[in-house]
Amino acid sequence: MKSPFSLSGIAVSQGIAIGRAYVITNTAMETLHYLVPEEGIEAEVGRLETALTSVREELALLRTALPEDAPAELGALMEVHAMILTDEMFSKEPFNIIRSRRYNAEWALMTQIEEMSAKFDSIADPYLRERKADLEQVAERIIKALTGVKVEKPVSVGSGDQVDLIVVAYNVSPADMLQFREPFFKGFVSGPGGQNSHAAIIARGTDVPAVFGLSETLPLIRQNDWLIVDADMGVVIVNPTPLILEQYRTKQAGQQKAKRRLSRLRKMASVTLDGTIIELLANIEFPEDCRTVVDNNADGVGLFRSEFLFMERSGGISRFPDEEEQFEAYRQAVALMEGRPVTIRTLDIGADKLLPSSEKTRILNPALGRRAIRYCLTEPDVFLTQLRAILRASAFGTVKLLLPMVTHGSEVDQALGFIEEAKTQLRSQGHLFDESIQVGAMIEVPAAVLALPMLTSRLDFLSIGTNDLIQYALAIDRVDPEVAHLYNPLHPAVLTMLRMTVDYAGKAGIPVSICGEMASDHQLTRLLLGLGIRQFSMHPGQLLKVKQEILLSDLAILTPKVDRILTLSEEKEIEMAVQDLHQEEMSI
Ligand code: PEP
Ligand code: MG
Repeated sequence: MKSPFSLSGIAVSQGIAIGRAYVITNTAMETLHYLVPEEGIEAEVGRLETALTSVREELALLRTALPEDAPAELGALMEVHAMILTDEMFSKEPFNIIRSRRYNAEWALMTQIEEMSAKFDSIADPYLRERKADLEQVAERIIKALTGVKVEKPVSVGSGDQVDLIVVAYNVSPADMLQFREPFFKGFVSGPGGQNSHAAIIARGTDVPAVFGLSETLPLIRQNDWLIVDADMGVVIVNPTPLILEQYRTKQAGQQKAKRRLSRLRKMASVTLDGTIIELLANIEFPEDCRTVVDNNADGVGLFRSEFLFMERSGGISRFPDEEEQFEAYRQAVALMEGRPVTIRTLDIGADKLLPSSEKTRILNPALGRRAIRYCLTEPDVFLTQLRAILRASAFGTVKLLLPMVTHGSEVDQALGFIEEAKTQLRSQGHLFDESIQVGAMIEVPAAVLALPMLTSRLDFLSIGTNDLIQYALAIDRVDPEVAHLYNPLHPAVLTMLRMTVDYAGKAGIPVSICGEMASDHQLTRLLLGLGIRQFSMHPGQLLKVKQEILLSDLAILTPKVDRILTLSEEKEIEMAVQDLHQEEMSI
């Protein structure tokens, strides 16, 4: 019997998968290296040209053959891959290397890729650094075309019995991941890639347990090894003993049972024990996410992070989606929500999200820089284009406009001015839109909490973005692992700011929701209810768990307890009190 061992990586989704390893070998690593004789050079050049043509055709074919339910970013990504193919790094440099150094086509290509990879490794921006994977995926395709290797899906395994499989890949592309959506592919284990990689986004979107970031240790997994992918802990157990396997099967069965039980809550109204209705909304990144939102019977979309439509693009502002493309995306979300409201946040670019390349090197503290509304107000064409697209979508259902990272009243005034200008333009062009579209602001900067009248006097609603509010209140970079242990949603300063926002908005008669990660954490649901939150917006996968907490909560009991928590000044004391509150039995 093989000995068991475990590998630690990054959990990019949730759940447990158990199956046999289906290892997709790294073609690049197995590439032949040889010198081509002088007289064979033109033939070698021809071989590479043929491979490039066939990859171009393959990408075009893949694009047209995408299943209807494929995430939209896949189409865009294949366009990016097709573009990369026409770049000189593929269309010119490898040919020069064949001619000047007499390397065979595969070797020339890998030499070029290694040089490009080194350049990517030195990029500070984690999102852009991960785009190196796109280059490698294109190179991988060319090498497969050169060597005639295809990634074959196994139809059956072993004696013909269908066995659950876990895809183990050095560098699986999102397009390849779609090929592995058969029911017998239960999980993904991959080398490079973190939370920001496209493959991670697809794994989360398709609810497949996935652990990434195992570049160094991946070769330890052999074809057909038994694997447990624990995407809750970010661990892969290789060749587990029967006892470990049994324990995980029990845990997995428990998770599936809990999921089935939760699904019974789908149709139930979201009401507390004392009869208070709580609005449950969803956060989305792409319009297709609305299908899961509707499946979970949410009351609407509380946060459409529109920047994800822009982040799929490379090439700066000239490559941002134009008005028609954005309009189509927003309209699709509105249509899928069938009358339920869709809150579209304007471009929140900057910080850990894509920055125009000219700014990356110059900025020391991007989270404090020209981000979100600050960016939009200084790029009128980008802002107006987006506002027109959002307004046009408002003719097809209930749309609300949400402004990110607002700090000054003057920013709101300028943004409202742009909205008026967009409306005037649309009227003159005969476009329909909701004349009285509601406009709100994210509360994510402490200054906005301390100067709330500045916002409530100008706007229709507020939405608390706790992810940034905590980052800015506690002065902790939310993406820096070195200070992650200090990032505490239960810091007394954070709770005080939540209370201040809810109280003041209540007095001003302005609705306030919460859309940061705190809203998704069912262990904090009662705390937030007791703080007076009545609208929650979260990842669609968390909706039913939070609803379950709501159904078991009594506001008459909760409210005085949360008032008391607000008087505590020690983080540890608060944490314990919130835990007790979460675990307390409440029934009528
Ligand atoms: C937030 O800051 O809490 C928020 C919801 O916005 P994002 O996470 O997109 O910055
Ligand atoms: Mg934010």
